[in-house]
Amino acid sequence: MSRSHLPFPAAARASAARSLAGLAVSVSLALGPCLTPGVARAQEGGINLIRDTEIEETLHVDSDPIFKAAGLVPKDVTLMLVGDKDLNAFTVNGQAIFVNTGLIVETANPNQLEGVIAHETGHAAGGHSARSGDMEKAMMAPFLMTLGLGVLAAAAGAPDAAIALIGSSQYFGVINMLTFSRAQEAAADQAAITYMERSGKSARGLVEFFENFRYEEVFSEARRFKFFQSHPVSGERIELLRRRAEEQPHFNVTDSPEDIARHEVMKAKLFAFMNPPQQTFIKYTEKDTSYPARYARAIAYYKALETEHAIRDIDALIADYPTNPYLYELKGQVYFEVGKSALAEQAHAKSVELKPGAPLLRINLAQAIIAQGDAKRADEAIVHLQKALAVEGDNAFAWRLMSQAYDAKGEPGAARLAAAEERFAVGDMTQARIFALRARQLLARDTPQWRRATDIVLVSNPTKDDLKVMAGQTGLAHLQP
Ligand SMILES: [Zn+2]
Repeated sequence: MSRSHLPFPAAARASAARSLAGLAVSVSLALGPCLTPGVARAQEGGINLIRDTEIEETLHVDSDPIFKAAGLVPKDVTLMLVGDKDLNAFTVNGQAIFVNTGLIVETANPNQLEGVIAHETGHAAGGHSARSGDMEKAMMAPFLMTLGLGVLAAAAGAPDAAIALIGSSQYFGVINMLTFSRAQEAAADQAAITYMERSGKSARGLVEFFENFRYEEVFSEARRFKFFQSHPVSGERIELLRRRAEEQPHFNVTDSPEDIARHEVMKAKLFAFMNPPQQTFIKYTEKDTSYPARYARAIAYYKALETEHAIRDIDALIADYPTNPYLYELKGQVYFEVGKSALAEQAHAKSVELKPGAPLLRINLAQAIIAQGDAKRADEAIVHLQKALAVEGDNAFAWRLMSQAYDAKGEPGAARLAAAEERFAVGDMTQARIFALRARQLLARDTPQWRRATDIVLVSNPTKDDLKVMAGQTGLAHLQP
């Protein structure tokens, strides 16, 4: 069965994916490095990692109390959103929790999603390693390292950079199918209840979620969802969960109206971005005048390339919710994709004004400024990128834009250094070294930029020849092999 990994219907639209503000970046980790930068066309078995400020915020509001309850530091947990309609969540090596968009869309309320995240957190905090023979374990080491870098790359918001890093989709095929032992599953269930209780939440959602899908599986021909391939849900398992969940003092706690509202917005946004517009119009009919439905339809019109209709709907939403930065972000995205960069800039500027600390919003703004091709404004873009990079220093896409801005300014040394940073951020040491060496030649010696370029060369596995060249250029005789 062929599955599309793109949040957009046509591959042609994928080239714009990384500039899309709504789901800011569609990262396809499955591609070879030979593809044209920016073209994120995934192949079977790949996974798309998605960045979106609004959704990440909601996920963290939901998850951070659970991470804390598990004794983890929330900011150290990499929570990745996977653009895949299949229902799945998985944990890798206790470092990263992956949540499929399909899972989020299938959860009836925040508490169910939190329950699943708590279960995955149980695997992460419990240090569970996936079931594998010793031989497979030997092969896991490089794979996990690759993933670590890939996670960084994806978190950095650079689709093609991540693509260049991870050339093989096999790894991710493996990840999707990682299974834990029955004992580890039981332990994760029990840990989930503990974490939910400790964070003042009910474990009811996890029980409900398992129950819903147990029922569904009886009637489906095959086990349809990956999550339930790795999580066989038996009546016994559910009973065990339920019994202990019901004993907890917070079992009857329900989601707050705010949490429910955020969850519905997240579901609507993901549904609209992940499905063909017609499906969104069926699910969120014109009769439904709720905020999530209006939001979903605006996204669907945008995806249907009905730009005017999309803008009209977004403006109507803005009239009702004038301080929502994500509406301006979406508006900027719509304009940017049809080449109206000046209008895109106006909208993105407003989103930044409303949420100045969000790096992805600043990156959108910088991109819209750069796209207008006015060299005199390169500095403006650079300032926004610097602010974004101050928060996400390894955001490879920001470095890429930075490189473009310096090129526009006529500063090729700084441009090559930014390109080196971009490659370095995704762990592409070969290209990082090549760009950094070139930057050193172009930059004034002993400036901070020149020293940074030198550092990148030194940590990027330089060859003996590289060191020889550098030593010749700089008098760093001690570097000579
Ligand atoms: Zn599990």
